[in-house]
Amino acid sequence: MSRIVIKVGSHVLTESGMIARRRMLALVELITLLKTEGYEVILVSSGAVAAGYTKLPLDRKSVPNRQALAAIGQPLLLKMYQEKFEIFDLLCSQVLLSADVFESPKPIAHAKVAIDTLLSHDVVPIINENDTVSIDELVFGDNDRLSAHVAHYFDADLLVILSDIDAFYDKDPNRYEDAKRRKVVNHLEEDELKAEHSPNNEFATGGIVTKLQSADFLMKHHREMFLASGFDLGDVKSFLIDKVHLGGTLFTPKR
Ligand code: ADP
Repeated sequence: MSRIVIKVGSHVLTESGMIARRRMLALVELITLLKTEGYEVILVSSGAVAAGYTKLPLDRKSVPNRQALAAIGQPLLLKMYQEKFEIFDLLCSQVLLSADVFESPKPIAHAKVAIDTLLSHDVVPIINENDTVSIDELVFGDNDRLSAHVAHYFDADLLVILSDIDAFYDKDPNRYEDAKRRKVVNHLEEDELKAEHSPNNEFATGGIVTKLQSADFLMKHHREMFLASGFDLGDVKSFLIDKVHLGGTLFTPKR
């Protein structure tokens, strides 16, 4: 059985400051389909801050406010997921992790036992950073880094990042019309991993660089990452279900 981690970013899950319910439903439908195809699926989901903002519009520029919004929004986000998974007769669960979990073997082992147990009972773990005690991802990363750690330490074969961009290009496609998609990447250069990042909405703290850093981490640990659009799930479906690589970028250490 193949274990995969799917990470969905704030851009994909929100629309004009609200949770994009239809896109969330499409994602839940995709996860259900993947499970029937024999995949074990772990979801890493952003969106708590945006969900909190719909109830209490605090200024999102301040980190303490974003922590408060995440605390308000996390249960709302999970409730929305629960309702959608219920349509497909599936149970989901909330797993909140802080980045330092991955710094020592004991908490990693505890968390992995919980994840393995959930998966063995056909429950979908929905992971997010515990933003009240650990603010790394609120400040920078939007769960890109967290999802790479989840994929590695919980022994997934592949991390799928569903983004507002449909692939990795040789330059920013939102700024350059002639940007060309890179279909398969085996190695990333130091300067690509340090390039200036430009998160382009107030809910997002990621950008392409944190995705490349995640890809680099996984490739160095002999794992793969697939970056594809979260707006149109056609490419990820082809890749995972039909095993045809049409759109999207595969980061793989194999040549
Ligand atoms: P998400 O919120 O979906 O996780 P982000 O918006 O944080 O994703 O990051 C993706 C953005 O990174 C794209 O919208 C794009 O403008 C920008 N970007 C910069 N350089 C590149 C590149 N070489 N290839 C793809 N996207 C790039």
